[in-house]
Amino acid sequence: MTGPVTDLIGQMDIGSMALPSNIRYGTAIYRRGAVEFIEETPLRVEAWAGGLDGSMGEGGGTRRRVELVATPDGLQWHCTGNPKNHQIFCKHCVAVALAIAATKTRQ
Ligand SMILES: [Zn+2]
Repeated sequence: MTGPVTDLIGQMDIGSMALPSNIRYGTAIYRRGAVEFIEETPLRVEAWAGGLDGSMGEGGGTRRRVELVATPDGLQWHCTGNPKNHQIFCKHCVAVALAIAATKTRQ
């Protein structure tokens, strides 16, 4: 996967965008393989994240749909688990960002 979304994720510092707890939970979701891409285009990536058993620390929780879009202002994201207009970079966004970053490293 290459394109503006992948590039923006490669440039961004997840550690400064997400809470440490969400980074931990999102990493667990990603490591357990609970990211499923729905649509991948250079400007927009949509994926499911989550839906695992176990505690939050183990990546457990409800499955949510995440959308990452490259805009002229930079990366924008949306998770169906977040309140409207609440731009938190949640654990689902972290999991999808890690999955996208991993596909880039493999190329
Ligand atoms: Zn979320």
